[in-house]
Amino acid sequence: MSPTKVSPYMFRADLHCHSTCSDGSLTPAELVKLAAEIGLQGLSITDHDTTEAYPSVIEEGKKLNVTVIPGVEFSCVHNNHSVHILAYAYALGDTPLQGLCQRHSLRRAKRNSAILQRLREDGMEISEADLEEQATSKKVVGRPHIAKALLAKGYVTSLQDAFKRYIGEGQQCYVQGEQITVEETIEIIHASKGLAIIAHPHLVHEKGLIQELLGLPFDGMECYYGRYPANAHDRWLQLAKKKGWLATGGSDFHGAAKPTIPLGISWTPEETFKVLYNHYSSH
Ligand code: AMP
Ligand code: FE
Ligand code: FE
Ligand code: ZN
Repeated sequence: MSPTKVSPYMFRADLHCHSTCSDGSLTPAELVKLAAEIGLQGLSITDHDTTEAYPSVIEEGKKLNVTVIPGVEFSCVHNNHSVHILAYAYALGDTPLQGLCQRHSLRRAKRNSAILQRLREDGMEISEADLEEQATSKKVVGRPHIAKALLAKGYVTSLQDAFKRYIGEGQQCYVQGEQITVEETIEIIHASKGLAIIAHPHLVHEKGLIQELLGLPFDGMECYYGRYPANAHDRWLQLAKKKGWLATGGSDFHGAAKPTIPLGISWTPEETFKVLYNHYSSH
């Protein structure tokens, strides 16, 4: 009997990663280059609340044979709990999605000031200039950059420590800021011809929240994520199948900002990637 031939070809599209346009440590062009080096065929850069990497990364991808589709990860709130939504394959150019990104940028500026005020009240002086020094983008500045400023000033022992003691959800210096709802975000994504996906459902711990999200008009769920083991996906795959939703996947790579998660550690299968790509191409 001849040995089974295993095809060296395996399609992998990492549809969740962050660049210097938000809180990642590689530029969009560096991310595309890394994707090509590790043999990914597809990629989406999903920065927090900004589409700044587009459209130029799509062209970068073409040069390196990596198909890049538009993506973004929105920070939303449902019943006072933080929920992240991934949007894919939206139309580039002037759509309602761009207005939403601008709203987020303002929300972040106000919220950061409020967090710095809380830290000040607790005896930790971080100025707006200190924060700017840590930020890699003017539009998307957030808690990872505040954590870096706290570390640089010696107020915490690590970035984790900053989240655990001060700025993690529910901690003493945490501020949620303006609430932009899940429903509203889905509506804007759809009005911009995009598809709305529940990001990392494994991280939604609040009782009943997933059930409520399943009742909203999403198009898919991020069933494969980061370093989660294969059997952890089953629950999400079953739910996505039941809803007739897309089952996407990605690493949530942030580069040096989260050094334990490599690019491509989770990915989206070829059939699903094709659906997203065809959706984008149809605009
Ligand atoms: P923000 O968008 O400003 O609310 O910050 C959220 C980001 O902070 C997430 O996307 C992560 O990149 C990062 N983050 C959240 N929790 C932690 C944590 N415990 N340790 C390190 N980074 C974290
Ligand atoms: Fe992040
Ligand atoms: Fe997220
Ligand atoms: Zn992410």
